[in-house]
Amino acid sequence: MGSWITGKTTLLGLFGSPVEHSVSPVMHNTAFEALGLDFAYLAFEIGTDDAGKAVEALRTFRMRGANVTMPLKAAVVPYLDQLTPAAQLIGAVNTIINDNGVLTGHITDGEGYMMSVRDAGLDPAGKKMTLAGAGGAAKAICVQAALDGVKELSIFNRNREKAEQLAELINQNTGCRAKAFGLDEREALRRELSESCLFANATRVGMAQMEGQSVIPETDFLHSGLAVTDAIYEPEKTRLLQMAEEAGCRTLNGLGMVLFQGAAAFRLWTGREMPVELVRKKLFQK
Ligand code: NAP
Repeated sequence: MGSWITGKTTLLGLFGSPVEHSVSPVMHNTAFEALGLDFAYLAFEIGTDDAGKAVEALRTFRMRGANVTMPLKAAVVPYLDQLTPAAQLIGAVNTIINDNGVLTGHITDGEGYMMSVRDAGLDPAGKKMTLAGAGGAAKAICVQAALDGVKELSIFNRNREKAEQLAELINQNTGCRAKAFGLDEREALRRELSESCLFANATRVGMAQMEGQSVIPETDFLHSGLAVTDAIYEPEKTRLLQMAEEAGCRTLNGLGMVLFQGAAAFRLWTGREMPVELVRKKLFQK
């Protein structure tokens, strides 16, 4: 590892906390090595109080850019020079590109999600989609889905008010029609799912202390015409995805979203396409 690093190597990095389990360094360094690009990517453990200093370091070290993860996605925004329209709408970034000292914030999470869905042969454009969650991942997915032509979005969240705010953001800024519900509105959930082609879990339910739990109460809420995605990729198969398989649904975990948000960032920094299949193999092998 690192044998290609020279005095001319350009640095990229990941800012956030915790970062030690991130797949991003392996993803990007595998791609740089495969394409013979003189870049190196490292993870930096940085808390919210140091957001401004971390952004300044991009200029000081003439880094080409960085990925930004929790808890810094919104905290770095005031220190950037400009934002893309999606990042502006969401108020958060996951990728920064440094063009000779001018720092632009992008959000590629939603793009990664939509790319992973299309990569699996699914296209929700012009159709209805249902989603659980109203946090950072949900916002990114909803905004990109709306920008990519999803016609109707039904957003369910434990905190209904947050779902309402997200629906309002979509309705005011895109051509998509969004509706908000509480996650406990079971009959509405059953109805909205029956009318949807795609369901996305963008909550934390299914991982860590909530492993084994699902945002969908019963398997019979699902139907075989529905594709079911989970932003979670650890565990690889959440309880939701097990239920979806039992119901005969197409399923996708969150690894594709990680992979393609990385591919989008890689393209911004290098102008080259990430060798997605090679990187996918490396990540799946872990
Ligand atoms: P976040 O901003 O903290 O939002 C958390 C979401 O989970 C909120 O909607 C929250 O609902 C909901 N939630 C938490 N505990 C819950 C519970 N006990 N019951 C019901 N809902 C609950 O987090 P985030 O960044 O959006 O991440 C959400 C998930 O997406 C995580 O699992 C994360 O690992 C995953 N993710 C994946 C990718 C990827 O590339 N694959 C990228 C980003 C995130 P309330 O609003 O009611 O609290």
